[in-house]
Amino acid sequence: MSEPSINAFFRDEVLAMQPYVPGEQPQGGKAIKLNTNESPYPPPLSVVNAIHQAATRLERYPDPLATSFRLRASEVLKVEADQILCGNGSDDILTIVTRAFVPPNTKVRFPYPSYILYRTLAELQGAQSEEVNFEPDWSLGPAFAAPDTDLRLVYLPNPNSPTGTMVSREQIVNLANQLPCPLLVDEAYVDFAPFSCVDLPATHPKIMVSRTLSKSYALAGLRFGYLVAHPHVIQMLRKVKDSYNTDALSIAGATAAIDDQAWLTQNIKRCNATRDRMTIALRRLGFHVIDSHANFVWCKHPSRDSRELYELLKRSGLLVRYMNYSGWSDGLRISVGTDSAIDAVLAVLG
Ligand SMILES: *Cc1c(COP(=O)(O)O)cnc(C)c1O
Repeated sequence: MSEPSINAFFRDEVLAMQPYVPGEQPQGGKAIKLNTNESPYPPPLSVVNAIHQAATRLERYPDPLATSFRLRASEVLKVEADQILCGNGSDDILTIVTRAFVPPNTKVRFPYPSYILYRTLAELQGAQSEEVNFEPDWSLGPAFAAPDTDLRLVYLPNPNSPTGTMVSREQIVNLANQLPCPLLVDEAYVDFAPFSCVDLPATHPKIMVSRTLSKSYALAGLRFGYLVAHPHVIQMLRKVKDSYNTDALSIAGATAAIDDQAWLTQNIKRCNATRDRMTIALRRLGFHVIDSHANFVWCKHPSRDSRELYELLKRSGLLVRYMNYSGWSDGLRISVGTDSAIDAVLAVLG
């Protein structure tokens, strides 16, 4: 069957949508990757050993609710185990939440600039995206809380990507109280930040918090994320998820990872130290750098073309993310790497 005739069978939303393009994953492994906010350090051996163990029992289906992880996470996060829903990365969690709350011909809202995947998730539902600009101080203005009868879900990455900025807990509670729909706080980077909202869903059923093990726990390749929400919300969302949306290897690895809080603390400490050093050094080179609470910084030089700097770094084997947000700015998002990787970046830019 030729292409145009097979197209007649696809949903209009799928035909119309632009594919989400994740950061480049070069094959061959020569480049130093500072473009997708992965950890520059590998996970602890306890995680690798747990995955090894689980690999001897792959004839069995995994626990559909990842109970071992939820029990351990419940203690670490000080929330109830029935407040946790696990997924194949937090992108799976975002998909489940969107499918559950967003019917066709409605609206979702999120800040601009922020995570581009939200737009893709809305398009798949046949819903419209409303992107509301941050205020100059990176807080959210009244338009972000504005009532709208079509609005079904609001996403708020906190810390935000690509800026690393944060909205206060007070503002988030106020926002949830004003909004006519649920608020999903995407805490993909929160382990690098000074505060979290993970305690709020227990008392505010409209607030949900998503987390991932991809960044701070150095497990992007494992694919494990989770949602913290009110127990009733979790019950409903279980109906929407795939039965086995986390596999036996990822459950074992994720449980071992969240069990090793000493490793996490140490990883955060070294990554944040490198981030703060990189911020100061980039400013000395004349860059505008936004203060970041995540494992990356957003920077732009006032007189040098960002795309050319990206190309220059790439020629030296240093892969950062060039991003162009129309109506706001272009610039470079540089992930926190090892100290030697960041020194190499600074040397090239210097
Ligand atoms: C990386 C990221 C995610 C998704 O992480 P997973 O690897 O799918 O767990 C979600 N939200 C934001 C803002 C991110 O940067």
